Amino acid sequence: MTRVELERVLTLNRVWQPITTVVVKQALTLVFRGRARVVCPETYQLFDWAQWLSEKAVRADAHVIEHDYIRTAHLQVRKPEVITLARFAGYPNTGVPYSRRGVFERDNGQCQYCGIFVHKRAMTIDHVQPLSRGGGTSWLNCVLACGRCNNQKADRTPHEAGLALRRQPFQPTRDELILGGVALQESWKAFLKETVKVTT
Ligand SMILES: [Zn+2]
Repeated sequence: MTRVELERVLTLNRVWQPITTVVVKQALTLVFRGRARVVCPETYQLFDWAQWLSEKAVRADAHVIEHDYIRTAHLQVRKPEVITLARFAGYPNTGVPYSRRGVFERDNGQCQYCGIFVHKRAMTIDHVQPLSRGGGTSWLNCVLACGRCNNQKADRTPHEAGLALRRQPFQPTRDELILGGVALQESWKAFLKETVKVTT
């Protein structure tokens, strides 16, 4: 996949509440299947697949700014920035319940001790105050750790193990979790309700 295809599109539910970000390719697939429509972030105009193609596509041999377009067989389709799902009206829980996946997203996929990027399948959750010593499984006591740091730490506090947390674990806001480390785009701001601390 090209770089443009991997860029992110803000995804709103049916009633325009932001729920996640998806890669461009997935966003276009959702629109193609009629499961979502593209929202123009300036005019809030909605486009289904046919409308998006008729207004935002050019022949593949035409001169366009590659960055904003994704190439299909004969067309270059403009990259959407925001889509809204046709049916799904679900809403992320405002309390943002603790989850393993959430910890991964909050911590941007980085071990909170050594800073290396950890693959989702290789991630481990470290209880800062060990479970065996009364620590709980919660946003404030759990961080993403690589296997090596987690082993080194074992049933000790970071201090005892000679490790330092890169950042104190925190309860993320809903928008922070929706973005999950994806850099906030200017055109998304109007759709995200809470103030998001932009992390790069
Ligand atoms: Zn580590």
